[in-house]
Amino acid sequence: MRTPIIAGNWKMNKTPAEAETFANEIKDALNAIEGVDIAFCPPAIAIPAVAAAVAGTKIGVGAQNMYFEEKGAYTGELAPNMITPFCQYVILGHSERRGYFGETDEGVNKKIKAALAHGLTPIVCVGESLEQNEAGETHAFVSGQVKAAFDGLTAAQMAQCVIAYEPIWAIGTGKSATAEQAGEIIGKTVRGTVVAMFGDETAQAVRIQYGGSANEKNIAEYMKQPDIDGALVGGASLKPVFIELVQNAI
Ligand code: PEP
Repeated sequence: MRTPIIAGNWKMNKTPAEAETFANEIKDALNAIEGVDIAFCPPAIAIPAVAAAVAGTKIGVGAQNMYFEEKGAYTGELAPNMITPFCQYVILGHSERRGYFGETDEGVNKKIKAALAHGLTPIVCVGESLEQNEAGETHAFVSGQVKAAFDGLTAAQMAQCVIAYEPIWAIGTGKSATAEQAGEIIGKTVRGTVVAMFGDETAQAVRIQYGGSANEKNIAEYMKQPDIDGALVGGASLKPVFIELVQNAI
């Protein structure tokens, strides 16, 4: 039985002071919700403040990105051991990172290995564009992303990862995938590829989220799908309605 996980990706929103205030505002209500793992993923500079705010609660903290090298001349990047004092999770390969900042499958693979080596749980994002979806390329593309991301991992490492299936056309657009569409791609394509790579037992241990305009109204439908184990939430994680979303997920 996989414990669902709902993670809020705050993206480039909220200053450290705003992030701390918001975390304090919603943490008690979220902490009282049983049967679900919860994470806040604030902008990097707000991570220490948010980690301090949620200390002593069940809420975990995630970074939105991380570099795979340990240290050195990588201006603007954060090394794994810079986030591990505060974070349990790290989002890797988000489509905004891939699309705007040139992240590659190869780089995502290196980051996943570095995160696991440092005891972080990677939340690895995959998902197709609208053009790929309309051209019927979703299965091939997403399966290829999964293969590239998890290449070279042991089964034990794979089982520790979280995958977020986020169709790019559904992110921040208000145009969500139907629960059936998402459930089928997550089951057949995402989990199916993990089965082919690592076997059924490992694949059944991996938690797979849906992401793309998830909200407090549609989350219950996604969660009814047997292969969907939670959500990576952008817009709806920035407001107190996130509490309702998490409540409605379980
Ligand atoms: C995301 O940030 O990964 C995301 C899914 O955003 P939204 O919920 O706003 O579509």
